[in-house]
Amino acid sequence: MKRLRRILLNTVAAFSLLLCLATAGDWVNSYGHFWNISRDTADTTFTITSDLGAFYFLVTDPALSAHGVTFGYFPQSPTSVPPIENQYGATVQRWLPIRILRGRLVLATGRDVPHWVFVSLFAIPPLVRFRGWRRRRRASVAGTCPKCGYDLRATPERCPECGTVPT
Ligand SMILES: [Zn+2]
Repeated sequence: MKRLRRILLNTVAAFSLLLCLATAGDWVNSYGHFWNISRDTADTTFTITSDLGAFYFLVTDPALSAHGVTFGYFPQSPTSVPPIENQYGATVQRWLPIRILRGRLVLATGRDVPHWVFVSLFAIPPLVRFRGWRRRRRASVAGTCPKCGYDLRATPERCPECGTVPT
């Protein structure tokens, strides 16, 4: 059970580290290229765009098209305005709820979340895991209980002080 738990936690930490690195890579890349992925339903389009250091999550009502799922990848050009603003002809302000109007009609609503928010969140599980691993390793090198620090040289299989079984 303890072994299974460790494998599970390691898998989560490794997957999270992978996502952290991928998001960091996309962050850098978002200044050279932007991408968007859209999913059309009968009456709305849900779009995620990665552009200039942020992800944009937008719901467009009515649907932009009926192509199902579409993916686009484009170079940033020095003359172009950010693609969201290009696409909708509206100004988007970071951190504020996005409401794109056409006349008095609300065309799209959404939020933007900077890449660094996701990079930070995905970094937490691997960092926590690494700290635990380092603590256990230090304790096993020193011959002390990883939980309470009791000297385990006489009883290496189980801590007589707190009952921890060193792994
Ligand atoms: Zn102990």
